[in-house]
Amino acid sequence: MTHFRQIHEARSHSYAYLLVDSDRREAVMIDPAAPQLTLYLALLDELQARLTHVLLTHSHDRHAAGAEELCRITGAQCVAGRGSGVAAIDLVADDDALIPFGDEVLRCRTTPGHTPGCVSYLWRDRAFTGDALLIGDCGAAAAGDAGLLFDSITRKLLTLADETLIYPAHDFAGRRVSCIGEQRDTNPKLAGTTRDEFIAKQAQCDAHDHARAAVSI
Ligand code: FE
Repeated sequence: MTHFRQIHEARSHSYAYLLVDSDRREAVMIDPAAPQLTLYLALLDELQARLTHVLLTHSHDRHAAGAEELCRITGAQCVAGRGSGVAAIDLVADDDALIPFGDEVLRCRTTPGHTPGCVSYLWRDRAFTGDALLIGDCGAAAAGDAGLLFDSITRKLLTLADETLIYPAHDFAGRRVSCIGEQRDTNPKLAGTTRDEFIAKQAQCDAHDHARAAVSI
């Protein structure tokens, strides 16, 4: 049996994810937010689970600080992408690297563009897409590479089964989950959009997104 929790952090509009194999009592955490470490530790205690890995989809500051501190407290290994800039990395999340916990396993899929070291994590019918693919949006690429982001999303995420659930790192409207088919058909940045059109759309949005991100993410 597994437990799955999506934990909202209101100030940064971010989501962290706790995945637990409750039979083996091993857990992993994706994108922990620094202000909520006490909550995560209480959840682990309640579920009597040991945290084996802390995974980062990317290294924007609140996630990275939370991950490093959570690893220090629990002894979990820190997993992040090559080039992510995370200082305390134990395992590099290269393509198809596997992260086991109990009898479960996550698969790493590099999805650079929002940042050079962005990684998505696949588990069962779910994809944790960080800030690469958001619900009805894509992450800002002002500090990244919009063309690379388009390639990552179209080749490595939209090729997943339509039913695959998408859990992002952020949502400013409080939406919690979508799926690949819905995003392919309705995401205004992606639906019917060529690579060049995507780059142009991102350039229009990035100044605004980046200003917002600098404040709250
Ligand atoms: Fe970000």
